[in-house]
Amino acid sequence: MRNVKQLSLFSGLEDTSPAKHVLVAKVVFESGPEGVFDYRVPKTFVGRIAPGQRIRVPLGKSNRFVVAYCLEICEQADNPQLKDIAAIIDEAPLVTSALLRLAQWMAEYYLCPLGTVLETVIPACVRNQAGTRLVPHYRLAPCSDGFPSLTEKQARVVAALLEAPGQRLSRDALTRTAGCTTAVLDNLVKRGILVKEMARIRHSQPDATTLPRQERLILNNQQQEALEIIQEAVSTGEYRGILIYGVTGSGKTEVYIQAIEYVVKKGKQAIVLVPEISLTPQTVERFRSRFDYVAVLHSHLTDAERAAQWDWIASGQVQVVVGARSAIFAPAPHLGLIVMDEEHETSFKQEAAPRYHARDVALRRAQIEQIPLVLGSATPSLESWYRTQQGELTLIRLPERIGGRTLPAVKPIDLRQPKHSRASRGVITRQLHAAIHEALENGGQVILLLNRRGFATHVQCSACGYVLMCPDCEIALTHHRSFSKVLCHYCGHEAPSPKACPECQSAAIRFSGVGTERLEAEVKARFPEATCLRMDADSMRSREAYERAFRLFREGKIQILLGTQMIAKGLDFPNVTLVGVVNADTALHFPDFRAAERTFQMVTQVAGRTGRGPHGGLVLVQTFSPEHFAIQSAVRHDFEGFAAQELPIRMAFGYPPISRLVRLIISAEKELEAAGWAERVARSFSKSLSQTGRPDAARVVGPAPAPLMKLRGKYRYHIQILGKDESLIRMLVRCGLQCLEEARQVSWVVDVDPVDML
Ligand code: ADP
Ligand code: ZN
Ligand code: ZN
Repeated sequence: MRNVKQLSLFSGLEDTSPAKHVLVAKVVFESGPEGVFDYRVPKTFVGRIAPGQRIRVPLGKSNRFVVAYCLEICEQADNPQLKDIAAIIDEAPLVTSALLRLAQWMAEYYLCPLGTVLETVIPACVRNQAGTRLVPHYRLAPCSDGFPSLTEKQARVVAALLEAPGQRLSRDALTRTAGCTTAVLDNLVKRGILVKEMARIRHSQPDATTLPRQERLILNNQQQEALEIIQEAVSTGEYRGILIYGVTGSGKTEVYIQAIEYVVKKGKQAIVLVPEISLTPQTVERFRSRFDYVAVLHSHLTDAERAAQWDWIASGQVQVVVGARSAIFAPAPHLGLIVMDEEHETSFKQEAAPRYHARDVALRRAQIEQIPLVLGSATPSLESWYRTQQGELTLIRLPERIGGRTLPAVKPIDLRQPKHSRASRGVITRQLHAAIHEALENGGQVILLLNRRGFATHVQCSACGYVLMCPDCEIALTHHRSFSKVLCHYCGHEAPSPKACPECQSAAIRFSGVGTERLEAEVKARFPEATCLRMDADSMRSREAYERAFRLFREGKIQILLGTQMIAKGLDFPNVTLVGVVNADTALHFPDFRAAERTFQMVTQVAGRTGRGPHGGLVLVQTFSPEHFAIQSAVRHDFEGFAAQELPIRMAFGYPPISRLVRLIISAEKELEAAGWAERVARSFSKSLSQTGRPDAARVVGPAPAPLMKLRGKYRYHIQILGKDESLIRMLVRCGLQCLEEARQVSWVVDVDPVDML
């Protein structure tokens, strides 16, 4: 359709307009100068270029050819300065124009070159056309005076092409449909009736698994109200932002599914974003049993598989795209709704350029596409919560669990009481031990959370006091008994675990600080009869191992599941009657302004794993800070109370979500280099700020050594800029970065809305 329209537009212009107008493509370069540039569309390319396609254009005095993305085609008065497009790379657009606009916004917002953003938005496999090959295609030559006499076979060929989409077919498809040989086709080409051309076809098919249809559940009143709010938002045909704050097991997912059913009925598509770790067969099945065309995007797809999914989504047939962070870029042509479950999850932030947060990108995409965005969580991020208070997001509460199940009782165990340290060796207190014993006696299952991998988190010589450190980072090495190695958890450096002190050769090496491996040993010693499984990044190297572990646990073949945060995520096991948090303080004392929020989330999320079945549940939280409000709020299941205490603290320090934060990290092999450049940049920030005449509009904090001062052999300094006026902050950062242009031997990272504060 588009092609035809452009053709007639063009020929019309040629006929009537003496002030010569031409078609112009507005493009951005994949790499090279930033900004939008105009190129003339030569006659031969008219009708073959659309926004989202890549083209090759001459650039600069030398006219070297560079790759560019077409953003827009428009008509303009001709201009002798305009250069012609040299070649078309993609036959069809790789992205929708909405996605291109999104990419432009990201480049601006995250202070990142558009080319880098586009490399993130369009996966490499799509750009490289993975899983495709060139094969001959045939189409009808433009004949004005009908077809000359044709044999029966030839007539069938012509008929097949007239009916084919785009009046073009691959050689295989055409010979099959017309029941003829290639010779017949080539003969028609010779007679000028057919045109033969090479075009790409895909040889791997998308994974379009469907499952037996499951009945939709009858919603309870609260779910029904939530659904109606979303349906109404969908009907407006405008952007709406909605946050569902619903406790674990309150039926949020069922609401998403029924909202999507409504969207699909209107002929539109939905994107559902979940954390990678929640992208389990269980989650996928839930969608595949309710919709016919579900595309799943996870990180374990091969290039060809991913490219096939991408094409399938772009074709418009897919109804629901379920995926992790990058699925926000799924090229759905008629998007009707975006859902982000567990919106508080930090994995939605990408820690490599362009360092985007999928929540903010989703919000922007929803605005561009004029559709609703639904965020959901049992522990909303304070960013989203604050937006509900500012009236930017509509708040929906689902305060009760389905089926009237109560939330589990959460009880702190005060580790400061001396009786624990005296009576029990190891990290499991007497109370926790007794509770595990009782849960197992009654046939229940137990989850134990400890957020530290490895066996011992601290390896020290008791003769000379030497502590084993990573040679490249300012981090103590963790002893992993299963590998007999010490590892750096930041850079991955590894070495054999020492038998003697590297400093004084004494054999008195002490392995202290408890990680999951040591916890596992303790649990096995205390409960030798119970089956126990450890789940952390070391024991779960593959997705299969992870899925198998969950299956065994669900089938009741494992009684005690222990591990890191990995076990705290959105899993539904009705038989879990006890959750133990071995040390709630691991996150509490981090040098991160979100430490309290992380602690509250961690305890609340893992607590949500229990009490889902008829036997209720109990959560025991071991802590040295039982009176801390993050722990206290978690004990009461009181997110709103937590937010009410935490937000004023953020306000007092001017931290997000009240202000925007940009963090600049400058690193160098020589400490003085890093510190010196950081000092210069910070001065430039302050200077630009005072020049704005609004010195109070932003705050420059630092430079200071980053909490992780040495990482991968480089010294790191950071500067933080805080303020409410986003564009002012970006302007300051842009100015400040200019002075780094002459900097050699230093590298830097600009992190807008950082999540990782180390
Ligand atoms: P959440 O996403 O809030 O954790 P889910 O949607 O997963 O909640 O619901 C929790 C459990 O309750 C699931 O097993 C789900 O099948 C069931 N459920 C949800 N809504 C209903 C309903 N209206 N009637 C019966 N069961 C429901
Ligand atoms: Zn020593
Ligand atoms: Zn290291």
